[in-house]
Amino acid sequence: MIIRIPKGTQDILPEDIEKWNYVEKIIKEVANRFGYREIRTPIFEYTELFARGIGESTDIVTKEMFTFLDRKERSLTLRPEGTAPVVRAYLEQRMDRLFPVTKLFYLGPMFRSEKPQAGRFRQFHQYGAEIIGTSSAQVDAEIILLCLEIFRKLGLKNLEVLLNSVGCKKCRALYLRELKSSIHQEIDNLCTDCKKRYYKNPLRILDCKNVSCQSIIKKVPALTQYLCEECQEHFQEVQKYLKVLNIEYRLDPRLVRGFDYYTKTAFEIICKELGAQNAVSGGGRYDYLVEEFGGKPTPAVGFAAGIERTILAMQQQKIEWPKDSGIEVFVAKINQEKELFAFELLQKIRMAGISAEMDYSFRSLKGQMRLADKLKARYTIILGEEELSRDRILLRNMQTKEQKEVEIEKIINELKTVFNKF
Ligand SMILES: [Zn+2]
Ligand SMILES: [Zn+2]
Repeated sequence: MIIRIPKGTQDILPEDIEKWNYVEKIIKEVANRFGYREIRTPIFEYTELFARGIGESTDIVTKEMFTFLDRKERSLTLRPEGTAPVVRAYLEQRMDRLFPVTKLFYLGPMFRSEKPQAGRFRQFHQYGAEIIGTSSAQVDAEIILLCLEIFRKLGLKNLEVLLNSVGCKKCRALYLRELKSSIHQEIDNLCTDCKKRYYKNPLRILDCKNVSCQSIIKKVPALTQYLCEECQEHFQEVQKYLKVLNIEYRLDPRLVRGFDYYTKTAFEIICKELGAQNAVSGGGRYDYLVEEFGGKPTPAVGFAAGIERTILAMQQQKIEWPKDSGIEVFVAKINQEKELFAFELLQKIRMAGISAEMDYSFRSLKGQMRLADKLKARYTIILGEEELSRDRILLRNMQTKEQKEVEIEKIINELKTVFNKF
């Protein structure tokens, strides 16, 4: 029996990798244009980082992390998200000394032990950006613009920005008391998860997808009605800057994010074609996280988005992918005795900076030409006995079917001219 791939994971095959590379290229290009520099943190961290950063009572920490002991029995966890590791690195590497505001982006695999379902994997890929060191509402708006610009460059349409404020410790405490007392009578009608949330993390009840919970949630007051003066002002400022940037948004008082560390701004960008799980990116402000990790109080804001979800949205909207340009040269030989010469020429062409391929078995010329077509070769070199006896080879343009004789000595230079590679 063959060994199978672990549940909830997938292979990204060569025929799909172009899409991934294209999406990743756009993300990097846009992030750089907005002044974010890439950071790569380890795949695993000490478990404590996520327990403290994401929140002990969140779904991620209580039931979705891949946690294991190393040989010295220290608890490690495969990263379930990117923000906590970035903030850990920011503090540990004293990045605050370099610039007044630190702007970072990341891209890579994350791990959550969720029930596998369509578009949900246990190893999935996220990209995101963080601005650490300013409480200015300008950067909240900038982060949303950055997301939208990535999606615009990728060709995504029908996007909607949902915006909310989840307040600060002060005003949220007030709201939570209000929230709890307003649903206290209906506690028995909440789903099992929400019953627990009621005591541990009541804010999360607001984004429960359960129908019976939703009818209860509808009646509770909005968090934004309880914002303190500072949070209210910040919320207004974010909206002012979004308007300056001509970004349309819809206020969604039920929008809360899955992590405990969010403060003030919370947002999601949804794509209508994605159905129930329609968020393509989400983020918000997390002004307490740096302090939580032992740093000075440092405000920050960020977003994260899934590559799988982004690609799925692009496919749903039938966005055309850049065409696979294929290889530049295919080396075909008529006579098997020319094997050694063909092999040597093939490698010479590659060393000259031109992509090239040949058939390593002994197929007929027809079979070799079929392979050249499959590889989308733009030119084929044909090593014919008669031409070789005159130190010449045939160079065929696969598109126009024109072919010409070229002296063996001059073939590399000829190819460099054709592909403009000097
Ligand atoms: Zn507040
Ligand atoms: Zn519920």
